[in-house]
Amino acid sequence: MSIAATHASDTVTTPTTRGLVEIRGVSKSYAGHDVLHDVNLTVQPGEVVAILGPSGSGKSTLLRTINHLESVDRGWVTVDGELIGYEQRGDRLFELKEREILKRRTNVGVVFQNFNLFPHLTAAENIAVAPVALGRLGKADARELALGLLAKVGLADKPDAYPRQLSGGQQQRVAIARALALQPKVLLFDEPTSALDPELVGEVLDVIRDLAKLGTTLIIVTHEIGFAREVADRIVFIDAGHILEVGPPERVFGSPKHPRTREFLGRVL
Ligand code: ADP
Ligand code: MG
Repeated sequence: MSIAATHASDTVTTPTTRGLVEIRGVSKSYAGHDVLHDVNLTVQPGEVVAILGPSGSGKSTLLRTINHLESVDRGWVTVDGELIGYEQRGDRLFELKEREILKRRTNVGVVFQNFNLFPHLTAAENIAVAPVALGRLGKADARELALGLLAKVGLADKPDAYPRQLSGGQQQRVAIARALALQPKVLLFDEPTSALDPELVGEVLDVIRDLAKLGTTLIIVTHEIGFAREVADRIVFIDAGHILEVGPPERVFGSPKHPRTREFLGRVL
């Protein structure tokens, strides 16, 4: 098998971590078009970070590098001290084999905009499938876990419903429960409420708010500015692949430093 990607790890000595998630010098381009430019971000355990920015600014791409759904051209990401997607040999990073990528990815739960539930599986089965497939739990224990997680997201009465029998808000709550099933160290949300009818947004935000209160480490891409302001410990503003601003909500919303941040907030607030 050929090595899919290597790049010089000039910024990595040893990927020792200061934070739970370390993003260091990450750059990425598609066909010469820079999508992420030297992105650096450290997320501490228990921290809630909201990523804001205009459409096309690289928010999803950045999130996807954290579990190696996207490769990077430069730089590296660690979660809990483990390089994501790559291993270091000498001064270069080599992309890991698929099996190893999957193993390390279990530290990172993801919730997408469009729920992405398995349509042919019930709510409980959607949640139980990964722990069983990875050999972590037997079927009975995995169902127990699924029922517990469904209760946690307010869907104790829906274990045997198929996705098509659930509202968008309910489906997204199942997706959150599924993301929790492998006990990830960090949970990523990519615009988790953007595909929902307005009246269903609140029930999903309530679940995310509860996770934040419980001390779960969360990185949330969202256009829900009020929610970001309320739950996030820090706001990251990204524009054209550059992180322009990072700080506590009061600071970023109250006195944005960068003209692009002011312009963006002026449009959305
Ligand atoms: P956001 O989530 O902030 O809207 P994205 O990360 O989805 O932004 O996209 C950032 C930029 O990268 C956009 O210009 C988008 O068109 C481009 N892009 C994203 N994914 C791909 C891809 N697979 N191939 C080529 N260009 C892409
Ligand atoms: Mg996006």
